[in-house]
Amino acid sequence: MRCLVTGGAGFIGSHLAEELLRAGHAVTVVDDLSTGSIENIEPLTSEVRFRYVIDTILNRRLMAELVDWADIIFHLAAVVGVKLVVEDPVRAIRTNVRATEIILELAAPKRKKVVFTSTSEVYGKTSRVPFREDDDLVLGAPWRSRWGYACSKALGEFLALAYWREYGVPVVIARLFNTVGPRQTNRYGMVIPTFVCQALRGEPITVYGDGQQTRSFCWVGDTVRALVALAEHPGAVGQIFNVGSDEEVRIVDVAHQVKALTGSVSPIVFIPYDRAYGDDFEDMRRRVPDLTKIRALIGYRPTVRLEEILRQVILYYRSSECQSKLDSPTAMSFSGF
Ligand code: UDP
Repeated sequence: MRCLVTGGAGFIGSHLAEELLRAGHAVTVVDDLSTGSIENIEPLTSEVRFRYVIDTILNRRLMAELVDWADIIFHLAAVVGVKLVVEDPVRAIRTNVRATEIILELAAPKRKKVVFTSTSEVYGKTSRVPFREDDDLVLGAPWRSRWGYACSKALGEFLALAYWREYGVPVVIARLFNTVGPRQTNRYGMVIPTFVCQALRGEPITVYGDGQQTRSFCWVGDTVRALVALAEHPGAVGQIFNVGSDEEVRIVDVAHQVKALTGSVSPIVFIPYDRAYGDDFEDMRRRVPDLTKIRALIGYRPTVRLEEILRQVILYYRSSECQSKLDSPTAMSFSGF
């Protein structure tokens, strides 16, 4: 199969490109390197079945050629990280909405399959845990920038399903829950790389709020295998799936685990949300996927538990390729923004 991966030089995209190559497919990656990096795809460049294009997916002419080439499009390109989303909401919404529209429009005439990666953010602050794909979305007020991202991704889902219903474009929607692993940068504030870098540098480990909020962290290898399996399964078309892990953990416990596993002397400090993200911020208390639907279709089960995920991320940041990342100051070490 010829696979186009938008955002393929990013953290998840590069792992997906690798997985697709391993499965024998040809892969083209398109990425503007706004948050992705060449280092992520460097090891793939020697593969004859691999090519990459550095450009924006808003370049319609280019995307028309690439979509024409592809049998399937994995649309991952998006603005990532709560930090970027609250700092630059216009960019987040515009990129997400326009890019998804362009991909679907271009995929429509030849009914190319599109796998759209949405996010667990779309569930918003619902308190009904675990989250099921057919649950209502509970988003906060529009003046809280965070929800603009959720809204833009939800709109992508509506649009994808509309293209399926009206034009027969085979779409699959995957809602990704807190994906973690090597290559995830600490630059955009995601909690695990942030804690690991802070611990390795001996800086304070910054827990936001009271740390009682929970998340469920998914190993990137599990995420990309799920994406490929969903792409290959005809029964996934026109459907939404949670992709994640259901091992729920409190953020304060993640901080303690990281400290213990790194043997760090870092203190664990509590930072109020308004200092971390500004006044108009709102967090969700719990986030756990219900995996019944994806398990029933493709037999998906997360294979890596949090402790092993943390060990792998620590190993990655201790490796020589990351020394420069550790030497430079942490974007999220507490200067606030
Ligand atoms: N978080 C934290 N300290 C940090 C970064 C994040 O306590 O330095 C918290 C954040 O407030 C949230 C959770 O960790 O409750 C996960 O944050 P992340 O940005 O990784 O993902 P989210 O699930 O919010 O999209």
